[in-house]
Amino acid sequence: MYRSNHNGHNGHRNGHAQHFLSDVYISEDAFWSLSLAAVETFRKECFGFLVGYQGKDKWILQRAIPHQTAQRSYSWVAPHAPARQRIEGAMKSLFLGEHTIGWFHSHPERGGEIAVPEVSDQDLDISKPGEVILIMGIHSRRKRVGWRQNADGTVSGTLGNYHLVVAAYMKTETGRQRRLRVNCAYATGFNPE
Ligand SMILES: [Zn+2]
Repeated sequence: MYRSNHNGHNGHRNGHAQHFLSDVYISEDAFWSLSLAAVETFRKECFGFLVGYQGKDKWILQRAIPHQTAQRSYSWVAPHAPARQRIEGAMKSLFLGEHTIGWFHSHPERGGEIAVPEVSDQDLDISKPGEVILIMGIHSRRKRVGWRQNADGTVSGTLGNYHLVVAAYMKTETGRQRRLRVNCAYATGFNPE
């Protein structure tokens, strides 16, 4: 969900050094699911679940499962709790050892405003402590750029007619957000266009 205003950033743009405590590693499969979900629903938000493993200070994102029964609009998505329970129940028999590690959604451009993949208060409210919150910022492509990992821990690049920025956060036990470093060797190495 979009934050209602773009003030109150978490300090990263004010010259503070970045301290990445944890990494998220995105598989090729998850990269495509995330990207195509954001492109499909553009200019509305997409929403879905992140499935994988949690290690010590790292998460392995194996799959991203779009949540088709989420109610969506241009600036918000309402998750459907029973759907999450059904998906988690089904996954127990499908994927040995994998579990839901968080959720994703997109922040599409609005009215020519660049999509900012930052956590809103609503995003934090609907997350559980320890969950990964992955946000895809998506806007119409201005020029083609290769996929790369940025200094702020995001991964970005263009795909077709869109520019995407993948950012990840974790909700801490105290309810705050902590930025994670996104790694996607598939995107930054292979450079899909
Ligand atoms: Zn959001």
